[in-house]
Amino acid sequence: MNRNHRCRAIVLRTYPIGEIHKGTVLLTDTNGVVHAVAHGAASAKGRLRALAEVFVEGEATLYHNPVKQSTKLEDLDTPVMHYGLRENLVKYYAASFWVELIAASHLGDGEHDEACYELLSDALLGLERAAEERTLELSIYLMWRYLGLLGLAPQLDRCGECGREAARGVPLFWALGGGGELRCADCRGGADGGAESAFELAPPARAYLRRLDEVAARTEDLLPIRLQAEQARRLHALLAAGLQHVLETRFKTLESGAAVLYGRR
Ligand SMILES: [Zn+2]
Repeated sequence: MNRNHRCRAIVLRTYPIGEIHKGTVLLTDTNGVVHAVAHGAASAKGRLRALAEVFVEGEATLYHNPVKQSTKLEDLDTPVMHYGLRENLVKYYAASFWVELIAASHLGDGEHDEACYELLSDALLGLERAAEERTLELSIYLMWRYLGLLGLAPQLDRCGECGREAARGVPLFWALGGGGELRCADCRGGADGGAESAFELAPPARAYLRRLDEVAARTEDLLPIRLQAEQARRLHALLAAGLQHVLETRFKTLESGAAVLYGRR
């Protein structure tokens, strides 16, 4: 990164630094996940006070000090505040899960930074505009696309072990303990570290993901594609479990917010 750097940024996380400063974890369109200090952001008169908040998106001015290896967030212009994500508990937990996922697993390879940024930016806006009951479908879309960016989205129509094409009406099994491919019932044994039933991809879920691959390039494309609520809960839990497995992490947002997200309040 140059000393002075302009990019688009979304605030993924903040944390206190002393009494008046805030640390921020940003997703940028040029450099993936960046840690930057927002000076004075926790003080009453701090210029960045309202901006250094989770979900806020804008044109960031960053200053990188190559000697100290530190980065400063100097400004966040033309901000999109996403208040609508804070005012609805279901949307809040979904968006919180997304930023936790991306902060935990940033690609950081330069190749996918812009695509990752566009994915989250579009999804946050789509979630803010969507009806609350579409939240899980949006979240499934984000996870599925994110798996694709990580190079971990399995092929949907073929057993990755024996190579046989899978009929549309049969379940496949996500071999997370193996190579991350989908396997047929004959090949599933021993592929997923014992928790086999947890990784079953039912036919409606597989059909839905195939539809996403075919028609959904942005969240607005999701509007006409529906997934029944119970199927959405199961597919969401499956993809989240898969991401936890491959990223070797536990999502705190899902531990605290599962009851809200899955409608079991
Ligand atoms: Zn097979």
